[in-house]
Amino acid sequence: MPEAKHFDILAIAAHRDDVEQTCGGTLLKMAERGRRTAILDLTQGEMGTRGTVEERACEAEEAARILKVSWRRALDIPDGRVENTFENRVKVASVIRELRPRVLILPYWQARHPDHATASPLGYEAAFVAGLAKLELGAPPYRPYKVIYASLYADVRPTFVVDISEQIETRFAALMAYRSQYQDQSAGSELFPREAEIRERVAAMAGFYGLLAGVRYAEPFVQKEVGLVDDLLSIPVQSI
Ligand SMILES: [Zn+2]
Repeated sequence: MPEAKHFDILAIAAHRDDVEQTCGGTLLKMAERGRRTAILDLTQGEMGTRGTVEERACEAEEAARILKVSWRRALDIPDGRVENTFENRVKVASVIRELRPRVLILPYWQARHPDHATASPLGYEAAFVAGLAKLELGAPPYRPYKVIYASLYADVRPTFVVDISEQIETRFAALMAYRSQYQDQSAGSELFPREAEIRERVAAMAGFYGLLAGVRYAEPFVQKEVGLVDDLLSIPVQSI
């Protein structure tokens, strides 16, 4: 029997390119440190205004390669109709059991897009279901140790941020791999201003969260648990 795959971090989001927008720099940084990272997209993106499912699949593969992600898959949950049903929880739980990630990254639970908001409790409850010993899903029961929420697009103060100053350029390149989404196909030569505008927006968001922690660029996260400190002399981020 082949050895069971084991991953350090699994990021789950509703649509292809969500992860790139909210925690791509963090995934890249972890991969650069030798961690095994994975992305699970819940939908295939068939309701997107631009691009086909096939185009988005190719773009997602390319973005994953840029972010040094070891594994990526898209489930078949209908785009625009991500629902927290038992059937969907089982689909996600099967992946969690297969990959056995120690850390699970989910979207923050409040969002304008209902798919983004629903993906959060769906992912959490799937992680719970994945640990139920008597539920037969092929792979043995497993629960991630830590669940954190990527909160870049939520109007909420993060619990912590990850410094991505060294990853910001590559993270931008991963986003731009979604050519069908972010490039203006009808005006080839006017492609540059659109890219420049996206670059400015990405840098502004990452710059804001970086400022909160005294670094150049960062990505924000929320954790529901309190922080645990062992040594008061090694708490990061200057107060005064
Ligand atoms: Zn999305």
